[in-house]
Amino acid sequence: MSDDGSFTYNGGRVAPGERQNIRFVVSETYLGDPVRIPVTVINGEADGPTAFLSAAAHGDELNGIEVVREVAHEWDLADLAGTLICLPVMNVPAFLAQQRYLPVYDRDLNRSFPGSPDSTSAKRMAARIYTNFIEPCDLGLDFHTSTRGRTNMVHARADMADEATARLARAYGTNVIIDSDGSSGMLRTEAVADGIPAITVEMGEAHRFQRGLIDEALAGVRSVFAEYGMLSAESVRWPGWRTVITEEREKTWLRADAGGMVDMHFERGSLVHEGDTVCTITNPFKNDNAPVEAPFTGLLVGVLENPVVYPGNPLCHLVELDERTRRVVEMEQSPPGGAN
Ligand SMILES: [Zn+2]
Repeated sequence: MSDDGSFTYNGGRVAPGERQNIRFVVSETYLGDPVRIPVTVINGEADGPTAFLSAAAHGDELNGIEVVREVAHEWDLADLAGTLICLPVMNVPAFLAQQRYLPVYDRDLNRSFPGSPDSTSAKRMAARIYTNFIEPCDLGLDFHTSTRGRTNMVHARADMADEATARLARAYGTNVIIDSDGSSGMLRTEAVADGIPAITVEMGEAHRFQRGLIDEALAGVRSVFAEYGMLSAESVRWPGWRTVITEEREKTWLRADAGGMVDMHFERGSLVHEGDTVCTITNPFKNDNAPVEAPFTGLLVGVLENPVVYPGNPLCHLVELDERTRRVVEMEQSPPGGAN
């Protein structure tokens, strides 16, 4: 931020009360044409924090794109206090190819931050994004989905040992927060290391716009804006129950021990009890079915969508709940008077 409250980046300036749609050059193609990413900067009239909303660091993870675009272009931000940096499609080459990784040597953009201006192509792109649009921020949300072929409930991933990041994760207001500091090169991990609280929001599956999940994710953005005073008309939400999944708590990807076609018996977000048959792996003749039982009582945070597996492939992501949370979730999932 400059002294007059303008947001400045390499090549431009957005004054208070202004918004700009930018096509920002991050690289060049084999033909020497610019590779440009869409960026919208909205600088509110009133002072406040600078926040980034980013999506599609993995090019086929689409839900977050819609979240970021709706905030930038459909929300009434006339009373915005602070500045919003909206990066709906960070990984444009992967987005064009509709794949997770950068097509150039299949690099993971989300392991390339904060980047470097004289390193690999992935790190150069990451550096262009990071120095111009992440470093100036006070906080940020990075939207992802499950990997192709799987889906997950809306949840946050955050380094809860970092108090400022924990505040952001709680303000976002999901039922489930997975506590982890992430990996080197991840956008949220590098931002937190630079003193910028940031979380990953995971939601649904790749290659889709899933309306219900997008609405749920947008409610989280409103809640964060309320917590940091960016939109005073909003209020911080309490999701009804919350569980923070720490390293010590049991969590596991149940893996297939047989190859076959999977009949999944529960949806993402369901509570399953120890011994429940979560899914059944079937052969082509349906005569040697392999039931897969829940090894402990917990919540199905992620499940398989593409119903084919080799032995060793993940089936579902199960996390243990503490006793109190488990009772609240049981109440929520079996309404009183309901037959079950
Ligand atoms: Zn991702």
